[in-house]
Amino acid sequence: MIDRNSLKNLASGYSADGVLVSAFISTSRLDDWRQTAPTFLNSESGRVLKERSLEKEPRRRLQEDIDHIGEVLRYEVGPRTEGLAVFADAESGSFERFELPFRLENRLVVEPTPYVRPLIHALSLLEPFVFVRVSRDESTVYSIDEWRLVGVEGHSGPYLKSTDRETGDVPVKEYYAAARQEALVDLHFKDVSAAVDKTLDETAAGRIVLSGQHDIVAHFKKALSARAAAMVAAETSVDAAASIAQLLVGARAALEDARRSAMEEIAHRISEGLGSNGMGAAGFDDTLAALRRGQVQTLLVDRAYRPPGWRCAGCGHVVLAPAEKCPVCGGAMVPVVDAVGEAVRTAVLQGAFIEVAEEVLELEAMGGIGGLLRYA
Ligand SMILES: [Zn+2]
Repeated sequence: MIDRNSLKNLASGYSADGVLVSAFISTSRLDDWRQTAPTFLNSESGRVLKERSLEKEPRRRLQEDIDHIGEVLRYEVGPRTEGLAVFADAESGSFERFELPFRLENRLVVEPTPYVRPLIHALSLLEPFVFVRVSRDESTVYSIDEWRLVGVEGHSGPYLKSTDRETGDVPVKEYYAAARQEALVDLHFKDVSAAVDKTLDETAAGRIVLSGQHDIVAHFKKALSARAAAMVAAETSVDAAASIAQLLVGARAALEDARRSAMEEIAHRISEGLGSNGMGAAGFDDTLAALRRGQVQTLLVDRAYRPPGWRCAGCGHVVLAPAEKCPVCGGAMVPVVDAVGEAVRTAVLQGAFIEVAEEVLELEAMGGIGGLLRYA
């Protein structure tokens, strides 16, 4: 699990010699990676050496980082891993690796700061969540991490539990009056709701998908704690014939749809908040300026928007247009392959939320990047 703090730590990396290696490599069998990955690493490091006039020591350290990544690829990648992300800096001795359950586009970036954006994109797709299958007398709480189902907790309602098979007493179903049954269902929902809260405490899940008959789900929702209720992102209908795996695929898809609407809503709120004293910033320059002021609560970026730019070696200011000197401090500017990547990194450092959107028209109209501000 990659939490906010370890991401922040990662994003704060800085290499004085300018050689911090960020590598993203597909380790999917579909890509025949055992052959292609070493070739890719060699040709990319060759390209970097050609493009950058590095001194002898940084050159040697770059080679050291590449060799280290090569070793991880040769000996340490697990069979379930489809994509490997590595951040290496031989100068400071830091080496961080993340194995992910899906393919990454092969990419090698060598800059003074880590290129964390592909990792943020991956995490946005791998969001852990809680899935609750609800019925009046038997419900199950599932927790799903970025890889797979990790926890199952079944709850039988008091309604079923009190059936006494041994003594052959009158079945509870007949015994209890209807009003009593409702009270027992409420008790059952309370139990399940407590289990949901416990799961939220124990996992990094931030969203919940509920599944069941609509009226029953609506009833159950009233039993949820305020925190859990605010996390309910989607509902799926019941399909008695579906396997757990199928249900979870359906839940993940419902979550994706909900995420898409949420992105549209954020884009809309940003665009409504534009202008003086508004709570929105749009476009590269304005959003970056708001980030630098620590004003951004949520950064929204278009997955496909990756403009090259320039970063000040002195103060870290980033611009899109080529500039010899930093407009803020007069420092020397160095090229960055993805200026939005620097915006994302800054947002990570500030603890802002980062949302990655795809094909959201209102975001595209803003130039592919915008921010919802904490204060105007
Ligand atoms: Zn500067």
